[in-house]
Amino acid sequence: MIVRLFNQLCKAAVVALAVAAAPGIQAQTQPFPSRPIVLVVPFAAGGPTDVVARMLAVPMAKSLGQTVVVENTVGAGGTIASQRVVKATPDGHMVFLHHMGMSTAPALYRKLGFDPLKDFEFIGQVVDVPMTMLARKDFPANNLNELIAYLRVNKEKVTLANAGLGAVSHLCGMLFMSTIGIDLTTVPYKGTAPAMTDLLGGQVDLLCDQTTQTVPLIRDGRVKVYGVTTLKRLASLPNVPTLDEQGMKGFEVKVWHGLYAPRGTPREVTDKINLALRDALADPGIRQRMAELSSDIPSADKITPQGLKSHLEAEIAKWGPVIQKAGIYAD
Ligand code: ASP
Repeated sequence: MIVRLFNQLCKAAVVALAVAAAPGIQAQTQPFPSRPIVLVVPFAAGGPTDVVARMLAVPMAKSLGQTVVVENTVGAGGTIASQRVVKATPDGHMVFLHHMGMSTAPALYRKLGFDPLKDFEFIGQVVDVPMTMLARKDFPANNLNELIAYLRVNKEKVTLANAGLGAVSHLCGMLFMSTIGIDLTTVPYKGTAPAMTDLLGGQVDLLCDQTTQTVPLIRDGRVKVYGVTTLKRLASLPNVPTLDEQGMKGFEVKVWHGLYAPRGTPREVTDKINLALRDALADPGIRQRMAELSSDIPSADKITPQGLKSHLEAEIAKWGPVIQKAGIYAD
């Protein structure tokens, strides 16, 4: 009786082990791609990162022969999405588009729960996007000098939107406030898409945001613009001065992006995704759209796993000490 029970328990254990092992075995043997691929975006739908992801999804799907579905996993400056991706089955059916927030998160978040350099496979750099300093359309100041003068007197009642700690809108806003030496009340959102909705609606006053969202709104005169964050003016907005030329010497923020997969995704799978990424970035339609948004497609050597990894390493090394020195923590 006891022996039979023991045998049954052993059998059950063997079955349980086989079931538990099955996904791993499947992940290695299943051809890739064998179902739609989820492209995770760490900010709200309709915003700058989402715009890039949706632009890539169509040509990437074409070269991979499977649908690419964009999913927005928002919150905590993009780190909730990172946590989701590191836990995903590493078989290539989940990939992750993130920007330079990947390099600031380790310094900003003391309880991050993942290591950007160790917990991902690298696919390649994607696009470099400038930013623009904006206000709601009816904000009193009409240029940068007037803005600074206005803020000196009215700082208590002015709000500055961002997409959470570690978002580039947050970093740009911090740089702006430290350059002018004025602290404003910041209002965090789950992406600059909802922040922009509130800027257009007049619920917040200021926002520093990427051209992937802002160029059409600036051209249509739906927001007020004070400057671009590159050292040269942008071809898409030739009449908008740089912050640098208006006296904010060296004010430069350009937002790089990378495509990642969970650690352990087989190399032959990341190679296929890399090829699809390179195909997408070579697509004339995408190149034209990116140019219209003054966003630069990186050189071929950067659209590689090593190109992304080295850049992330350099950026972590650059931002870590700056953030530590400023003593800013998100948690
Ligand atoms: N790029 C983010 C977005 O897509 C926001 C940010 O990082 O500021 O909403």
